[in-house]
Amino acid sequence: MNDQLFVGGIVSLSMTDYPGHLAAVVFMQGCFWRCVYCHNRHLQSVLPGESLPWEDIINLLKAREGLVEAVVFSGGEPLLQESLANAIADVRELGFKVGLHTSGAFPDRLAKILHSLDWVGFDVKHRFENYLEITNILNSGISARKSLDLLIASGVDFEVRMTLYEKIEKSAIVDVLKEISALGVKTVALQKCRDKNENVVEHAIFSDKTLLEDLSKYFDNFYIR
Ligand code: SF4
Repeated sequence: MNDQLFVGGIVSLSMTDYPGHLAAVVFMQGCFWRCVYCHNRHLQSVLPGESLPWEDIINLLKAREGLVEAVVFSGGEPLLQESLANAIADVRELGFKVGLHTSGAFPDRLAKILHSLDWVGFDVKHRFENYLEITNILNSGISARKSLDLLIASGVDFEVRMTLYEKIEKSAIVDVLKEISALGVKTVALQKCRDKNENVVEHAIFSDKTLLEDLSKYFDNFYIR
């Protein structure tokens, strides 16, 4: 059990958060990045008074045994909480596979838990040198790149997801995709950005079918969501 975890919420059944798996999703509180399009701003702060007790999460997961195959830690940025490793151990003990959604903000912490993960959904936000434009945090691209290198070297199954914010130039998206392909990324999902009212703000690249087809050839799996 772990009483040092700050959990903002749980979804007990998801078919989209761990591709190919039925999963429960645990939303961890806290993220120090400030992405322009963040849809989980309510999870950016750690608010102990609003945290769900970890014991309740475990009991809920026990009730899902046989119904879901995996538990995904999402957020916020799950690695902000150093006790994530203990939470992963608790979930493994129940027999679930473990997934992680991460921005790559904490490469050193990611390195320590990679061996305990079955799958990672890794956000790439822009060219690594242009991260500040999205995250509003200096050097965030350096951390993200280090984390991605670690993830690729680990052999853990993963996909890269990129949310296509309308102000990212098409040429930057092309640069990012070519760069991560050269690094060894095999699976990419391009995600449509949504505004505060949850309306899709479609990036111009989605109308350029020829370009998308060309870009898809850099990867084994290329999804648009
Ligand atoms: S990294 Fe994720 S949770 Fe953190 S601010 Fe960016 S979009 Fe929001």
